[in-house]
Amino acid sequence: MKGGNFQNRIYLDNAATSFPKPQAVIQKTLMGLYNYSGNPGRGGHSVSKDASRAIFSMRLAAADFFQTSREENVIVTGNTTHALNIALKSILRQGQRVLCSNIEHNAVRRVLLCLEKTRDIKIFTFDALLDDSAVLQSIEDGIKRKKASVVVLPHASNICSRILPLEKIGKICRENGACLVVDGAQSAGHVPIFFDDWGIDALCISGHKGLFAPAGIGLLIVSEKFKELEKGSDALITGGAGIDSESPEMPEVYPEHLEAGTLSAPLAMGLEAGIRLVSSIGIKKIAEKEILLGNLAKQIISSRKEAVIYRPDLEGGIVSFNLRGISPERAAEYFDSFGICLRAGLHCAPTAHQSIGSFLEFGGSLRLSAGYFNTPCDIQRFGQVLLSMPLK
Ligand code: PMP
Repeated sequence: MKGGNFQNRIYLDNAATSFPKPQAVIQKTLMGLYNYSGNPGRGGHSVSKDASRAIFSMRLAAADFFQTSREENVIVTGNTTHALNIALKSILRQGQRVLCSNIEHNAVRRVLLCLEKTRDIKIFTFDALLDDSAVLQSIEDGIKRKKASVVVLPHASNICSRILPLEKIGKICRENGACLVVDGAQSAGHVPIFFDDWGIDALCISGHKGLFAPAGIGLLIVSEKFKELEKGSDALITGGAGIDSESPEMPEVYPEHLEAGTLSAPLAMGLEAGIRLVSSIGIKKIAEKEILLGNLAKQIISSRKEAVIYRPDLEGGIVSFNLRGISPERAAEYFDSFGICLRAGLHCAPTAHQSIGSFLEFGGSLRLSAGYFNTPCDIQRFGQVLLSMPLK
């Protein structure tokens, strides 16, 4: 099996998932598979209890990392998509109004479009690519004038390095009584998040991106307000929860209320190791490195006269661009033939491409997403291949 052979490949697709996984994460996940593979919460014996303890330990680490005082409100999911489905389908009821951005990932967009059909919700949109003060103004307008009771947005875009001013957005939502659902897929591990202080009601994240965990585990962190709004919802995934088995309904207590089915202790251990690694490196240092690599990439890309870079003013590890004369897909194939891994296309966010202007001319973009473990040499190598690429 060739998998895991990282030699001679330069991975610049960290927005899709981080790779390679750090040794600390691999070791902890393996240790979980060896020693903590009992069914958590499904037995009074020591093997089950060990697995439960491993998951509890990750919950505590995540509560601390995302700055929330209630670890029971940290719900284990499969990924961000799963978390967003639970969050949005639990609180958006018949005919309600929701405000979202023009750069949503399909993990939000498709859920809202489905609820538009099935529950007649009304969707309003704000332009997340405007400057911060205009964004804040349009969110306030959306809540006050359009009467949106739920605001859902990506903390950070997966198309360009746009990070929304979440603390201020949280304040506006709190002051105006709206519920704030955050797609944190691209921000967790890259930008600090203060769940309680910022007034977030539902934070949806994946472990496998900026937190370096294996794919298959994510988190939904909820507020007390969310729990009130969710009451009586019929949108939950129901099933075994390890407690209250005689009841026809899911237990009322959290986190079991939203956690039907067996959870993975090995994945939880991998996620905890990732969270601890990010904390020990420091988010500031991670962000600085990504900015450095992103800026270097933009400098190199712009030296090709056919290059179009989208929102080069935004600083961070994600750079979307195109080359006039070649489709993003063919360009990505060319890079791949030299062992350079970039993603091409719409990146599951079609409206974001309409918003940045890459949709009509190119049908998407090439996306370079640098991670903490990339080096300036990786970007230089990417640059050599870029400069050698034949067009037409
Ligand atoms: N939202 C954003 C902004 C993303 O970039 C992604 C992953 N591309 C998701 C949601 C979905 O994440 P996952 O596939 O891990 O559920």
